[in-house]
Amino acid sequence: MDFDNVAIQATRRGILRGAGALAGGWALSHIFPNAIASATPGFAQQSGSASSDALAAARARFGKVPIESTKLSENLTLLRGPGGNVVVLSGKDGKLLVDTFTQLAWDRFKKALDEISKAPVKLAVDSHWHWDHTDNNANVRAAGATLIAHENTLKRLKETHDLDVIGLHFDPSPENALPQRTFKESYQLNFSGEHVALGHLAPAHTDSDIYIHFQKANVLHMGDVFFNGIYCYIDKGTKGSIGGMIAGATKMLAMVDNETKIVPGHGPLGNKADLRKFRDMMVTARARVQKLKSSGKSLEQAVAAKPLSDLDPQWGQGVLSGDAFVHVIYTTL
Ligand SMILES: [Zn+2]
Repeated sequence: MDFDNVAIQATRRGILRGAGALAGGWALSHIFPNAIASATPGFAQQSGSASSDALAAARARFGKVPIESTKLSENLTLLRGPGGNVVVLSGKDGKLLVDTFTQLAWDRFKKALDEISKAPVKLAVDSHWHWDHTDNNANVRAAGATLIAHENTLKRLKETHDLDVIGLHFDPSPENALPQRTFKESYQLNFSGEHVALGHLAPAHTDSDIYIHFQKANVLHMGDVFFNGIYCYIDKGTKGSIGGMIAGATKMLAMVDNETKIVPGHGPLGNKADLRKFRDMMVTARARVQKLKSSGKSLEQAVAAKPLSDLDPQWGQGVLSGDAFVHVIYTTL
């Protein structure tokens, strides 16, 4: 499989360019349009149309990522593929999806859903507003599903965005791709034999993050508040911060037990120990970057100081390089 994976490095000028191919099926080539990033100095400041092209390129590349299916319980299935991790609840009331993969994977996504069961898709949940989790919103609505999300997902999908660090531009989503049912704090439902609890997390990765807890099966989907085994992206533009990520992970650690299957937004299926490792890594990384920032170091000086060099071999191989993660932390402190 050629995932054409890319790490992002913050250069001394604070401009981000793609660098290097990485191994590993779960890395996030789709959100890092390396070709354009490498070729375009000042990438982060480029025009909307150029970064829209970057989105098209990312969609095309990610549309090829295979979908792998793993059974989590009698009626829950994890699909890993083009846009992170989708969880499917299937039973007598129909199917409920968490997240929707990317657009060009829709036909394969439908096929994977049909292979689970013939039950119709009735409900779909967006874990947060980002495109790699919501890109098939219109398709799942057209297939008959009602879309549920936090109220800030609806708000953010109606806006124009230029994502910091990864440099992608988003126009407002069309009406038919918007969530129809939203909530502010929590939302619970009984569906297809499960009790599903949705809850808002204070701004962490974005200000639209929710967790989805399948309480009977003891399965938790955390969206992008959990990147399992890899440095995480944080969206400063929609109020994400390293402090919020740490608080969100800590809150979820208190909610799960040692048996809980924890689905990250990106990375392999995890458990409580994996989530704790991720939280502890963020605590360590934040303290080191905070020390540099507090001592008056500029962003470029903080990146050049390589404060995470001992962590990079373990955490910097999937999504962000250590340099890019320092950049993300520094700018959200
Ligand atoms: Zn995200």
